[in-house]
Amino acid sequence: MATCEVCGNDYDKSFDVVAAGATHTFDSFECAIHAIAPVCEHCGCKVIGHGTEVDGHFYCCAHCAKHAEGAEDAPVADRA
Ligand SMILES: [Zn+2]
Ligand SMILES: [Zn+2]
Repeated sequence: MATCEVCGNDYDKSFDVVAAGATHTFDSFECAIHAIAPVCEHCGCKVIGHGTEVDGHFYCCAHCAKHAEGAEDAPVADRA
């Protein structure tokens, strides 16, 4: 038994996630995402897939990474 650090639920199937050396306890992936998932710096959504990391900045996808880097000035090859 352990208590979720996000919602306080005392749940027998809770689990621990180690992130950046600190151990966090959650009762659900929803709570884990809420607490430790990185946030896309372009659109603000939670990055729950692999995401894209550019120079230490997290983005949810290549599209956001491109826009955030001011790559609009660069020639865009893929207009599909
Ligand atoms: Zn919870
Ligand atoms: Zn995004």
